[in-house]
This record gives sequence, C-alpha cells and structure tokens, in this order.
Amino acid sequence: AADGKSVVRALYGGATSLNLSSQRIKDVPKCVSRLTKLSVLLLNNNSISRLPVELLSLRQLAELNLGNNDLEEVPAVLGHLESLKKTLPVHDRWVLTNLVVLNLNHNLIQRLPPEIKSLTKLQHLSVLDNNLEEVPVEIGYLASLSEINLTSNKLSQLPQQLYQCKELTKLYAARNKLASLPEVVARFVLQEDRNRFSLIHRMLPRYPSLAALLACGSCCAVCLGPFLTTWLECVHFVRLKKDMKMKTLLTVPVRALVCSYKCFNREGHSFYGVATR
Ligand SMILES: [Zn+2]
Repeated sequence: AADGKSVVRALYGGATSLNLSSQRIKDVPKCVSRLTKLSVLLLNNNSISRLPVELLSLRQLAELNLGNNDLEEVPAVLGHLESLKKTLPVHDRWVLTNLVVLNLNHNLIQRLPPEIKSLTKLQHLSVLDNNLEEVPVEIGYLASLSEINLTSNKLSQLPQQLYQCKELTKLYAARNKLASLPEVVARFVLQEDRNRFSLIHRMLPRYPSLAALLACGSCCAVCLGPFLTTWLECVHFVRLKKDMKMKTLLTVPVRALVCSYKCFNREGHSFYGVATR
C-alpha cells in the first residue's frame, strides 16, 4: 500500500515528519511507532477510528493531525490511559505530552477526556465539527493553550476554567447550542470594550442587541473587573459620618457585587456575602 511505502521510506531516512493523509487508512500501521524522531504526523482524511497503543513511543511528536476521520473518542494514547495504566510503567503513561498542535476536526467525538490536562505543552487544539457536549474543566490546566476551536459542536456552555488559560487569545465557539452568551466571552468583551482603541470597542455599536445585553453588566467591587452574570452578591456597611462626612451616626448596608470567589476570598475588603448563585 502507498502508506506502507511512505513509512518504510521514512524509517530509512530517520524522518521527523510523516504525511499519511488521504490514504484511505483504517488502521494506522504499527511500524509508525518505530519513527521515534517524528515531530509531525499527518493522518487526516482517512477512516481511522482508533490509534495503536504503540504510538506511545513517539515521544517527540509535536503536531498530530487526525482531522476528517471516524474517531468516536479521543484516542487513549493522547492521554486517557486508564485502561493502559495498569500495564504500563509510570514513565510511559503520558508520553505524548510534547504535543503542541492537535487537530481532531471533523470526527464524531462526544467528549474530551479530563486527562487532556496532561498535554501541558498544547498550544493549538482544534475540535471543529464534532459532537462535543461539554468541555471538561480540566481544560484550565492547559497553560500553553493559545488557540482553541470548538466551532460546530453541541456545547451548551463553556467552562469558567478557560479563564485559567492565560495564553488563550483565540477562542472559536460558533455554531453550538450555547444557551446564553457565555460569561467567559462576556467578560472578555466587556474588558475589551473599556479600551477605546480596541476593535471590540469600535465594533460593538454595530451590534445593538449585543450592546444592550452587555449594558446589563456590572463591575466587581474588589478587582473592578467587568462581568455580566452576578457571581456573588455582597453587602458592605457604610458609616455615614465617617465614610460620607454626613452628620449622622447611622450605618447603612450597601449592595456590592463581586466577580469571583477569588476576589471574595481576597483579604483586606469588608464585603460580606449574602447570596450566591
Ligand atoms: Zn473581582
């Protein structure tokens, strides 16, 4: 087969990249696992529904393209090795952790396993056009993630933990079943809107319904950051004489909104939680 020839050629040359796309492959040849210097492996446009465990030996692999195949789940070699853990020595459990680019577009994947958090070097994750119903909170562990494409799935919400991905600059989530404007996006847009030179600030007036929705947003009493959905409702007590220089000794409760438990738990403020959502 054509793919067999490519592998043999690659083996002799000590290849660092291997292109097996559009070869009508159902089963990835196990000998691919002998190309231990591979950093790029293209398997897109085939009929692959699983990956052989042997691929664990590709310790240098940085880019893996599995787009347009028949995967119904994220292959176990990418992290969720629960079934393999018992048989593998500890140092062999998470060997594809050097992955930087992972393309799973156009498959039938329903869930991302929580073990995806092992792919700590992952920068680009693309799961466009799958059947994802949710994104695991463990996505927040992907500290290097700069771009994630979740377009055309069945997501009803995005996890708050996306906040923790500090490098994240591109988030695509169009064509899903998102029930409402996700808070994570709302906060980003509200924050950007504060900068009058930003693209979002200039474009927002062109989307009056979005602007109207965002106008319901508030500002955190602790960090002053914007948010749309009230996270925590608090009260603080204002002493009219001392704080407001008024001629009365009255102390009145004033409503204050806080954006996160992180802010609420911060020391040095006098906001008391009264209700949570
Ligand atoms: Zn805050």
